[in-house]
Amino acid sequence: MTEASGVIVYTEDGNLVVPDFPVIPFIEGDGIGPDIWRAARRVLDAAVSSAFGDQRKIQWMEVLAGEKAFNQTQSWLPNDTLEAIRTYRVAIKGPLTTPVGEGIRSINVGLRQELDLYACVRPVKYIEGIPSPMIKPSDVDMVLFRENTEDVYMGLEWKAGSAVAQKIIDLVKAEDGRSIRPDSGVGIKPISRFGTRRLVRMAIEYALVHGKRSVTLVHKGNIMKFTEGAFRGWGYDVAQEEFGGRTITEDVLWDKHGGKIPPDKVLIKDRIADAMFQQILLRPSEYDVLAMPNLNGDYMSDALSAMVGGLGLAPGANIGDGIALFEATHGTAPKYAGQDKVNPGSLILSGAMMLDYLGWKTAAAHIRKGLAKAVANKRVTYDLARQMEGATEVKCSGFAEEIVRQM
Ligand code: NAP
Repeated sequence: MTEASGVIVYTEDGNLVVPDFPVIPFIEGDGIGPDIWRAARRVLDAAVSSAFGDQRKIQWMEVLAGEKAFNQTQSWLPNDTLEAIRTYRVAIKGPLTTPVGEGIRSINVGLRQELDLYACVRPVKYIEGIPSPMIKPSDVDMVLFRENTEDVYMGLEWKAGSAVAQKIIDLVKAEDGRSIRPDSGVGIKPISRFGTRRLVRMAIEYALVHGKRSVTLVHKGNIMKFTEGAFRGWGYDVAQEEFGGRTITEDVLWDKHGGKIPPDKVLIKDRIADAMFQQILLRPSEYDVLAMPNLNGDYMSDALSAMVGGLGLAPGANIGDGIALFEATHGTAPKYAGQDKVNPGSLILSGAMMLDYLGWKTAAAHIRKGLAKAVANKRVTYDLARQMEGATEVKCSGFAEEIVRQM
């Protein structure tokens, strides 16, 4: 696994080095996965070709996960898949069925934990013409960093009446004096200094590199002081200790700068999660980058996506240190599987994010331009067509062709 092979993305002194013909593993996904993957691949290849001619090209490599993997290997998430993503560093995936049944964990959660993809990154930006419930959806332009490996998503919980639940109830009584009803299910919500600092660090670095004005820490620290409240405290600490000269807090903003953010600084602020749900609806233009623990981020990312037109178009990525997995943010929508019907926009825009991550920004820009024009021309898939007056409904593959035509 060296650069000599010329196909592996790697990091050198913290910078990503990308060969011209990188191998990128892909997981096609279950249900509608194959439909949207075909469409996305068509668009990604066309964008790279139109941006770089034959100087650059992605060499796609299929890896298995989900139902396809289970049918072929009896494993939902084979080790070979994890190893390939670890080796090639940048990968993309369609949606995966979550196997139902006790003791089987979500494959998505498994991928994030096994590969230590600690940040779920969701850019949310309005595309002109998309039906939205907002009066002014163009004010929404945020990038959300959601912690991926801690909090209640660790799945540390025990059934009511189980031996572990009983022991925890007894321990709390003995050590702390407080009573938990004996018929309670019990869960643990760990949030660490380490996990918080690396997530907030990534969010601040993103804000600095992309010229964003603020990073908001979103938490429920008023109620959960030692988990969510600690997230807030550790977030401010990392800003102060590692980015002290380039960030300011709201106190300093008002005391020294009359409420105007100096051009060379990023404002670090915090909001309590419930209030933040009001803020994104009422004053979205005041927020740029958001950093938050796992469960807050779960709710907030879907709410934000809905504000700009829904999950069919929301891109996302799971990112760790020098490793990234881009993904469609919706599920497998099994009732539409194989119909060439659904919107491939989420996976296509995730692919554009991937091209940005690789530094192939011209190709990414071609995709966003093509998609915006396809929407402006009202040639869209069923989900958008049913909400847009005068739209022409096109198939999943047809939408991809439309994007390529408009690049
Ligand atoms: P879902 O698959 O996202 O589908 C729910 C509805 O959302 C669909 O019926 C459809 O709405 C709409 N939709 C989803 N994707 C769309 C697209 N590309 N274009 C247009 N409309 C789209 O959610 P679910 O039914 O709750 O979950 C199904 C399976 O997916 C489950 O096994 C779940 O665990 C899994 N899942 C996987 C992921 C992932 O891999 N990241 C994420 C979420 C869920 P209409 O019926 O109104 O047309």
